[in-house]
Amino acid sequence: MPDRSGHPGRRWSVGGAWMLVAVLVLAAPASAAELVIMATTDIHANIYPWDYYANAPSDNVGLAKIYTLVKEIRASHPNTLLFDNGDLIQGTPLASYLVAKGIPQPGELHPIIDVLNRMGYDAATLGNHEFNFGLDYALTTIAGARFPYVLANVYHPGTQDPYFTPYVILDRSIDGEPIRIGVIGFVPPQIMVWDRTHLTGLVEAGSILEAAQRFVPEMKAQGADIIIALAHTGADPGNRSENVAYTLAEEVPGIDVIIAGHSHLEIPGPGLPQVPDGKVNGVQLVQPGFWGQYLGVVTVSLEKEGGSWKVVDTKAELRSTASVEAAPEVLAWAEAVHEAVVSYVNQPIGETLALISSRPSLLTDTAVIQLINDVQLYYARQWLQGTEYADLPLLSAAAPYKSGRGGELDFTEIPAGGITIGDVASIYIYDNTVKILKITGAELKAWLEHAAQKFQEVTPGRGEEPMY
Ligand code: MN
Ligand code: MG
Repeated sequence: MPDRSGHPGRRWSVGGAWMLVAVLVLAAPASAAELVIMATTDIHANIYPWDYYANAPSDNVGLAKIYTLVKEIRASHPNTLLFDNGDLIQGTPLASYLVAKGIPQPGELHPIIDVLNRMGYDAATLGNHEFNFGLDYALTTIAGARFPYVLANVYHPGTQDPYFTPYVILDRSIDGEPIRIGVIGFVPPQIMVWDRTHLTGLVEAGSILEAAQRFVPEMKAQGADIIIALAHTGADPGNRSENVAYTLAEEVPGIDVIIAGHSHLEIPGPGLPQVPDGKVNGVQLVQPGFWGQYLGVVTVSLEKEGGSWKVVDTKAELRSTASVEAAPEVLAWAEAVHEAVVSYVNQPIGETLALISSRPSLLTDTAVIQLINDVQLYYARQWLQGTEYADLPLLSAAAPYKSGRGGELDFTEIPAGGITIGDVASIYIYDNTVKILKITGAELKAWLEHAAQKFQEVTPGRGEEPMY
């Protein structure tokens, strides 16, 4: 066969070029792909961008705005997942309305779960507030979900048998290739204190870290290519009990992405300012604030090697819903319950002769706190009548609820005139249960000292100093 180049060196150079190409092909992975994980946390019963207390639109809350972002991301990425991280069904008058009406009954769909079903959520976990209305209410609610609920650190009493499904392995495909996605859920074990009356004897909650140490290796053994923790817990470095997301990343190998929550902070951002990219020990943390202010988005770069996928990089960001239009589909899905709640909260139930404001509640007595205490004392006195405790001095404690924690609009302001159910919900925003405790003078003193820790010591005459 004639040599076309007529030069042996040329053949080498051509051959060398081909070899170089061959080496590049061998060095490239069998497959590389991107997976986009979307997450919500601490939605607290916000579907419409609406403030039921003020009876006015609210800019950056609600699943309707979240869904607009979800649709955009789904339109531009073939491989996406959507998760909710708990504290979903409590927090607005919409939630209180449903509980008051006994919705859902067994077999009935909770309107918020209906929205999550239609939005196409892939999995979710329970937050502490899911237990506020009792275990049966939580179970009836999640029974309507067309996606799995996972929770690994709650057990049948006296056992290590998980009460809920601890984790799932979702079989999906990425660019036509199968991938096994492990999803595990956690809740602060403090639910046993906060909802003691609802949960004692029915379930027991244990350490998040211990549950992770137990189940993550199981998930790996079942072939999970990637492990995502739906961790309804904040990220306080060093914390091992309530807000353990940081410690979880440091101590439990195998988790790739942690969706954090519960502390209502943002990661990347003020929830972990010392870690600007949200990566702790190579684990990607993301925490999308609360009420639907942000959608958490984690972009995971994967490579397939030897038959299994490997995470090679992650990137987290929070997408604000502030200037996002509400998705009309979500508004339509929830219209009936939204309208019912608006008319419910606008029912007049009384009248005030003066402005009721919570603004200085952290600094001094206000009408809002006094009203709560008066109501608590009114009922407590009735309960104690005719009992051995009737003659004991009776005190009332109330927390300054709407006192600015959620921003400059997070106050109660009720002008003179009619009072509605919505106004009352603004005065007392949580679905708590009033309890009477018998205590000693020493315990009272210790409790007052504990409450005083909220405040800084200021020196009179020194000028402006932060008070808390
Ligand atoms: Mn919450
Ligand atoms: Mg919480």
